[in-house]
Formats: sequence, structure tokens, C-alpha cells
Amino acid sequence: NSGFITIIGRPNVGKSTFMNHVIGQKIAIMSDKPQTTRNTIQGVYTDKDAQIVFIDTPGIHKPKHKLGDFMVKVAENTLNEVDAVLFMINAEEGYGKGDQYILDLLQRVHNPVFLIINKIDKVHPDQLLPLIDEYKDKYAFKEIIPISALEGNNVDHLIQVIKQYL
Ligand code: GDP
Ligand code: MG
Repeated sequence: NSGFITIIGRPNVGKSTFMNHVIGQKIAIMSDKPQTTRNTIQGVYTDKDAQIVFIDTPGIHKPKHKLGDFMVKVAENTLNEVDAVLFMINAEEGYGKGDQYILDLLQRVHNPVFLIINKIDKVHPDQLLPLIDEYKDKYAFKEIIPISALEGNNVDHLIQVIKQYL
């Protein structure tokens, strides 16, 4: 069983940390080069029953910049071609302007989108519920999964859930 996943989110929410944790020792391909117009493989996770290819989505990481229609189209196409989109946020920060740009783009996506709440090691569990409610209001996420990419909390669970969508 195999499939394609992309991770989007504002800078510093923990996308690279997540990739490092997931791909870790099982590294096949890693790229940290700035991309232009083509989607690239960031890494491939493999275990005994699945192969998950993580795809970079150029254009969506710089929500402050005014992007050409073409770049927006590229990002939109990628989001519509993968098996699931992981929209990552920082549990400490909550909703921000940069998120709105991404959520607007996600409105045109018909693939499953997960809300990944990262850095849960930094917040009190009581803070999660109001955060979840706020984001639930803005988008019909298929799954909402809190993790700590740094400490690895719940990351295995997330991988198991992803497998259900491949
Ligand atoms: P990216 O810009 O989305 O790729 O974010 P990075 O992966 O570069 O992470 C930004 C910063 O957040 C780094 O200093 C990471 O060590 C830190 N970070 C990432 N994930 C976690 C987490 O789960 N818990 C904590 N405490 N820090 C994290
Ligand atoms: Mg990064």
C-alpha cells in the first residue's frame, strides 16, 4: 500500500522536525532546497505494510508574498493530487493570519485534509479543546491529530491514520 502526502503550514510550526522524525533512520530521499515550480519528494517513509511519499508544495510556504496565479495553481494542483494533506499548526500560537491564506486555498481542495496540532509538549492539555473548536469552525477537517514532532508523541498514531487514506 502506498500513497502521497503533503504537509503545509506557516513557517516554524514544525514541518521539517516532523519530516526528520518520520523519515529519520528510514531515510530514502531528503531535500531542503528551495523549490520553484515543480513539486519534489521531501522524503519516503516505508515500513512493512506501507510506503508514504511526502511531497513538497511550493508556493504555499510563503503566504506573505504575492504569488502569481501560476504558483497558486501549482499549489492547488498538488493539494488535489495527493492522498491527504496535513495542515500543521503550532499549539502554542493558535490561529493566525498566515493560516487564513492556507485555509482559503484549502477551500478548493477536495482531498482529505488533516489538522495536525504540533508542539503539544509546550501547552497544557486544557488549551487544546478551544483551539480545536476554533479551527473546526473554519474547515471540515477529516482528522484532527495533536502531536509533538520533537518528542515524537502520537506520531506513530498519525502514521497509522494516514495509512487508512492511502
Ligand atoms: P518548519 O518551518 O515548519 O519546518 O519548522 P521547524 O521544523 O523548522 O521547527 C521550528 C522550531 O520549532 C524548531 O526550533 C523546532 O525544534 C521547534 N519544534 C518543532 N516541533 C516541535 C515540537 O513538537 N515541540 C517543541 N517544543 N518544539 C518543536
Ligand atoms: Mg522547514
